[in-house]
Amino acid sequence: MKRELSNGCYDFIDDLYIENLVDETKENDIMVREIIAKSLNKEALTVEETAALLAVTNDDLLEEIYDAARTLKKNVYGNRIVIFAPLYTGNLCENDCKYCSFRRSSSETVRKTLSENELVKQVEALEDAGHKRLILVCGEHSKYTPEFIAKSVETVYSVKKGNGDIRRVNINAAPMDTEGYKIVKASGIGTYQIFQETYHHKTYSKYHPSNTLKGDYLYRLDGLTRAYEAGCDDVGIGALFGLYDWRFEVLAMVTHARFLMDKFGCGPHTVSFPRIRPSYGVTLEEKYLVSDADFKRLVAILRLAIPYTGMILTARETPEIRREIMEFGVSQIDAGTKLELGGYTSSREQEMRKEQFHIGDTREMDEIVQELLKNGYIPSFCTSCYRAGRTGEQFMEFAIPGFIEQFCTPNALLTLQEYLLDYGSPATVKAGDALIKKELARYSHTNREELVKKLNKTKSEGIHDLFF
Ligand code: SF4
Ligand code: SF4
Repeated sequence: MKRELSNGCYDFIDDLYIENLVDETKENDIMVREIIAKSLNKEALTVEETAALLAVTNDDLLEEIYDAARTLKKNVYGNRIVIFAPLYTGNLCENDCKYCSFRRSSSETVRKTLSENELVKQVEALEDAGHKRLILVCGEHSKYTPEFIAKSVETVYSVKKGNGDIRRVNINAAPMDTEGYKIVKASGIGTYQIFQETYHHKTYSKYHPSNTLKGDYLYRLDGLTRAYEAGCDDVGIGALFGLYDWRFEVLAMVTHARFLMDKFGCGPHTVSFPRIRPSYGVTLEEKYLVSDADFKRLVAILRLAIPYTGMILTARETPEIRREIMEFGVSQIDAGTKLELGGYTSSREQEMRKEQFHIGDTREMDEIVQELLKNGYIPSFCTSCYRAGRTGEQFMEFAIPGFIEQFCTPNALLTLQEYLLDYGSPATVKAGDALIKKELARYSHTNREELVKKLNKTKSEGIHDLFF
């Protein structure tokens, strides 16, 4: 039965319908090729069309899906990969999610909320590594009010160490009421992320006890609708893969994206697809763990299903998996990631009683930047759209032909040049200079001359923060 909230939001996830699609959709190569063509034309797919892609088991047809995901990524996002870092500000939590070491019943977890001074130190360390974009993460607790989050954002923006500055702060936190979102929005945030974790109702109840805030499925599902209504039109959706059938979660995410698109004329800015990882005091159930092969399928299919949205691949995954999956549509990754509260100023190995989960890619920023360069990607620290007022148009790069040429590529090169100047190791500088040269040789947009001038100004005169 559909439940409804006072703001008119209803429960748009119909488990039975989605399960039937997963179970009953038959493999049909003619139809699949038509669907791929639609996606390559940058049209979002329906849930039923996505189910047709999920039904594919034939290896050749799967290869066609992977090829299409690669092509779409190139057409929509070019070869830049935007880099960010997560910053945990507090791990107190009133919820009791069974897969999380921060759950309230985990009495041995070391709890901490960063003081303002500690937050400043973390941001300085992140700036010293070359970061320009952060996502602030905290648990759901009465201490972490909208005012607390807004204040953290303001503190982050105020820190300037050397040539460092954080130019965009995103949020991953609990759902709020509309007043709460307005307070956080006013502090200058970018994306507000809420992951439903699992969209499957019964599984959701199993992992999120009903006597907790998070136990209310619909309040969480409605979280981003309230965010839009409060003026946050830049939102991120996600599911935690491994709690339930991954094919169900993919179809539910597509349903959510379509719901937002229908209601507000714009879908989610980003999609996240974290796979569950070991964490302190948690025994993982194996039944729904997603294999590497299925993970590759789900990423490629999500890319095709929601062509306009950014896709985030995090350091939960190992370097090998990140390397392999990146080409199927990923547009953002984190680098130099530390999950421990205060971890960016500590050189310790992961200490699981202090962290939410075990990470798979523990490499430092410079190593990741260098690898991206060697693999032909442009590591990008670009935040220009938010600062040039090109906001609220989530689909620019998707909708405007030439957007990548005009904005994403030159801004990626300019921010890379800044990184090389301020933070790059000699080997990274060498690889970066070579990549910039190569990119310039094939860059033909009318703003080429201006780009060359700006790059020279950064490199020779040390002028920072030039962008288009
Ligand atoms: Fe709290 Fe989030 Fe962990 Fe749930 S997943 S226990 S809400 S920190
Ligand atoms: Fe993102 Fe805009 Fe920069 Fe492209 S130009 S990377 S869309 S902020």
